[in-house]
Amino acid sequence: MIKRLTLILVFFLINLSIQGRALMLCLSHFGNNKTEKIRLIEVKEVPRNPQPQFSKPYGYYKLSIEKNGKEVYFTYFNSLFYEYSTTKNEKIKKFEECFFVPLFKPPFKVKVSKLNRVIFSKTVEKIKKEQNSPKIKTKIKGKIKIGFIADGFALKQDFLSDIRKLKKEFLSYKPYSKYKNLFVFEPIFVKNRTFTNKNTFGMKRYITVSKLKEIYQLLEKNDCDFFVVVVNSKKYGGSGILNNFCCVTSKNKLSGFVFVHEFGHYFAGLGDEYFTSKTTYNEFYPKNFEPLEPNLTRKTKLSQIKWKDLISKDTPIPTPPVEKYKGKVGLFEGGGYLAKGIYRPQLHCIMKDRGYKSFCKVCEKAIEERIKSLINSR
Ligand SMILES: [Zn+2]
Repeated sequence: MIKRLTLILVFFLINLSIQGRALMLCLSHFGNNKTEKIRLIEVKEVPRNPQPQFSKPYGYYKLSIEKNGKEVYFTYFNSLFYEYSTTKNEKIKKFEECFFVPLFKPPFKVKVSKLNRVIFSKTVEKIKKEQNSPKIKTKIKGKIKIGFIADGFALKQDFLSDIRKLKKEFLSYKPYSKYKNLFVFEPIFVKNRTFTNKNTFGMKRYITVSKLKEIYQLLEKNDCDFFVVVVNSKKYGGSGILNNFCCVTSKNKLSGFVFVHEFGHYFAGLGDEYFTSKTTYNEFYPKNFEPLEPNLTRKTKLSQIKWKDLISKDTPIPTPPVEKYKGKVGLFEGGGYLAKGIYRPQLHCIMKDRGYKSFCKVCEKAIEERIKSLINSR
């Protein structure tokens, strides 16, 4: 009994001592349409909590940490590099990717795999530590904290007024509305700073976060689970990449919609259900490849469809895109930037239609699962 109590006490003390410490890992992910390389550019102990793990295999990349040959941590993510590698561009481009993971004592191995193939592996022998730990704004227990980061704002009031609108719209969508009390929002105001690329891969509406390392330096002092870069602009645009980044312009009449759409990519790994807009990708989903996202499939047999549990018996598969099936979950052709060969769950969804006010049932379920997994891990 005493032995067991001692063990419990030791376990408790170990956990207590690592609370509020995390390891910041920054990668440089670079290459072109033929080559892909990763380099570890920063490994540092920081005085905040790790970010939530993403354990569902919806991302094309997996970051893992091994200690003594055993996997002790992993998280899935997507990368802007992946999109770049599907374009015809041969110029080598670099992308930054950062993570706050649990703190492990060196030596340990950092690994990145792409669809189960290891593309990077490095043993870390030493980690940097901040000498004077900055005071941080800590997370509130049991809550999901989203940090809004100002991009291109001169006035704090202007920024606060814009994020108030984004927040209001976000909480009006199901299932977020159901969990309203779980979300807390933290404004992170920095004057006249910019972290974004306003014309990614030559596309004006594609605004992406290019200075992730700088963002993570801000987040060291603001213990948020998630962050959104809010760009002071009237233009329509933004982006969201699973477990990587999310950004949106704040002064367009559709800014609230774009935020909820992009956050769906970043937070829950949802795929784009549209197929008519111009994109920069060439074959984002190669032939015969089953998309990993929960709301897209190539399968046409009911037993193999990811959301088969939500399809009622009287709904034909594939489902004709007619009024009769509006509001029903089925198998509608068109999604993932392709009009043929990829299917989505419902006729309409915020992941498909510009300005649409709700998620389809499958996306809603995926978000709800993500929220529940975050609460259960606390
Ligand atoms: Zn959907």
